[in-house]
Amino acid sequence: MRVCAFGELLVDVTPYGTSDKGYPVCEFNPGGAPANVAVALVNLGLEASFIGQVGDDHYGHFLRDVLREKGVDTSGLLMSPSAPTSLAIVSLAPNGERSFSFYRKHGADIAVTFNPIFRQAIDQADAFHCGSVSLSDEPARTATLDMLKYAHASGKTVSFDVNLRPLLWDDLTLAKSLIEQALPFVDILKVSEEELLFLQPGLSEDEALKAITQRYPITLIVITYGEKGSAVYTQGHLIHQPAFIVKAIDTTGAGDAFFGAFLNGVYTSSVEPESLSEDQLRTLLRHANACGALTTLKKGAIGALPTSEERDAFLASNHEHNH
Ligand code: ADP
Repeated sequence: MRVCAFGELLVDVTPYGTSDKGYPVCEFNPGGAPANVAVALVNLGLEASFIGQVGDDHYGHFLRDVLREKGVDTSGLLMSPSAPTSLAIVSLAPNGERSFSFYRKHGADIAVTFNPIFRQAIDQADAFHCGSVSLSDEPARTATLDMLKYAHASGKTVSFDVNLRPLLWDDLTLAKSLIEQALPFVDILKVSEEELLFLQPGLSEDEALKAITQRYPITLIVITYGEKGSAVYTQGHLIHQPAFIVKAIDTTGAGDAFFGAFLNGVYTSSVEPESLSEDQLRTLLRHANACGALTTLKKGAIGALPTSEERDAFLASNHEHNH
């Protein structure tokens, strides 16, 4: 099983204490949600490739090297001679919750079209993954929609993380409309509690999930609730699984660790996604929650994503919150 992930690969500039002069010190963490998911999948034993673009600059080379070192196939990662690698500036609240600002105007990740190199990478994979960040600006917007259509038409299983970053959008109505243009091609969707409300304002959770699955042919919707855990909605049923009790340091990448682990579980299962039993789905959520929780224990995203050994050790010695 091989997954091709497309989208932004950038540097998460993350606070790392203060200098002796009292100024903030930052760490350059490799990041970008779809790249995180590719690493999460490889860490858990699947094959993954990443397609997208970084600048042919110091950061771009750094990011490519990190993905390679992690075992992600980067033969479809382009290096732009003219557009710089994008940066995401992370701010951390005392409880580990993060917020973002971006240095991404004219960034290399945006300056991509659907080209033969990307097409070949999709052809070589069994599944395709992307999210909404690459929908924010042209030409990446059209490329994202084209690749979703292509992957779907080629019979690949398509996963999509809504991953709404309001700061990247001048117009959130447009964000919603573009996400809705992506959904007809999606099999496995990930939303946070807030993103579900954003997509279906004014509806209860159940009504919102029902409305989405009535309108689009999505097989599984996973919902993340941070320290309240996660759920999966399929065939009219919502299955909740509480989070593990941990002392979170930095939640960057927790959602990607979670979704990577969930997808890994679906793709390594011997049954089709629509045939997974409630027990099997509960186990997938539990494993995904463990990977999300483990990722909050370290700063940054890619460097914090657990391996299957780390996940299993964590599962053996940690417990969930009570309902
Ligand atoms: P996102 O909002 O990016 O989807 P979340 O912050 O909800 O991601 O995290 C994804 C998953 O990681 C959660 O569903 C949960 O299982 C786990 N997780 C995140 N934060 C915590 C936390 N503080 N304590 C325990 N588990 C957490």
